[in-house]
Amino acid sequence: MDTLVESKATLKTPAYAAKKADAELVPWSIVRREPGPHDVLIDILYCGVCHSDIHQVKDEWHNSIFPMVPGHEIVGRVVKVGDHVKKWKPGHIVGVGCFVDSCRRCEACRAGEEQYCEPGMTLTYNGYERDGKTPTYGGYSTRITVDENYVMSIPKGIPLERAAPLLCAGITTYSPLKHFGLEAGDKLGVVGLGGLGHMAVKFGHATGAHVTVLSHSPGKRDDALALGADDFLVTKDEAVFKENAGRFDFIIDTVSAQHDYNAYLSLLRRDGIMVLVGVPEPTPLSAFPLIVKRRSLAGSLIGGIRETQEMLDFCGQHGVAADVEVIPIQEINRAYARMLKNDVRYRFVIDLANLKSGAS
Ligand code: NAP
Ligand code: ZN
Ligand code: ZN
Repeated sequence: MDTLVESKATLKTPAYAAKKADAELVPWSIVRREPGPHDVLIDILYCGVCHSDIHQVKDEWHNSIFPMVPGHEIVGRVVKVGDHVKKWKPGHIVGVGCFVDSCRRCEACRAGEEQYCEPGMTLTYNGYERDGKTPTYGGYSTRITVDENYVMSIPKGIPLERAAPLLCAGITTYSPLKHFGLEAGDKLGVVGLGGLGHMAVKFGHATGAHVTVLSHSPGKRDDALALGADDFLVTKDEAVFKENAGRFDFIIDTVSAQHDYNAYLSLLRRDGIMVLVGVPEPTPLSAFPLIVKRRSLAGSLIGGIRETQEMLDFCGQHGVAADVEVIPIQEINRAYARMLKNDVRYRFVIDLANLKSGAS
């Protein structure tokens, strides 16, 4: 019993949390479990800041659990492994994405698409462990204990702070481009040049597609071209929708704020497909833009463990990584405010070093 108390105390972990909806994040303390036989304990080095963190802190999806420690773009170093862990050893550099467990039995899990787990995946934060009652806490903290099967390897050669956003922004854009069959030479439209959007540009470019960014921020033109886009359209200008009607084979929509899907659908050619990955407030949808050119509208949620590893390996081979601005955790509230003003190029990534050294 004494040992249990003592070991629990050693896994007392500094974190940053929102105590209630829309509250500022403040220093807090959580307890991570001692690694069980199949667990690894990870010393968190970097954690990306996803717009989903903001949606959930603000309870915009009406399912938030407080206190909340956000963060699901985690890169760290394995420091301890359970007795039965075979894949990982202390010293390995690993990643953890949006979920840390799933039922492992349903059709989706067996297909390696754990993000669509029928009883529900265990979210890295804003969720409960499989027991249905232990809250999960994310990467705005200094360490995390995760089952070995929900951990991925970070290929050598990717700077670690630039690897962190791949765990959500990377896989969320890689997965639908692959699933819906983007090919070299296809005309790809990327709507919204933020964390997800800039990764979609990089993956589209690496696939050999002709990439056009559709942005409501005229000032992002040079960045878009530098990131690998071939063209840039400013969507504030309504004429753009008429002039480019029927132009694209494929559109990926990464926008976090409400906008008119119908207008973007009109930019697809016959049989073109638009995939939604951004999650704004609901927007009315008309049947006409779909019917008149047999267009498809689809959605996609992150990606499974196997595909996330595949994406990371692809990034290692093709030199793909996120463009980041590294911040200490103390800057997190300012970073949220800047993201809401569209002032980030193109992902904030938290360096957890000074939270470990006792700063708060
Ligand atoms: P982000 O970095 O804040 O980027 C969002 C982009 O949306 C902005 O850069 C901006 O691009 C555009 N935008 C913002 N406000 C706008 C407005 N009022 N009108 C038009 N465009 C606007 O966010 P992110 O981290 O990439 O996340 C984007 C969305 O994807 C969020 O809703 C997030 O929750 C969601 N998400 C979904 C999944 C999934 O599995 N499906 C995974 C992760 C995140 P421009 O300046 O270029 O217009
Ligand atoms: Zn995310
Ligand atoms: Zn399942």
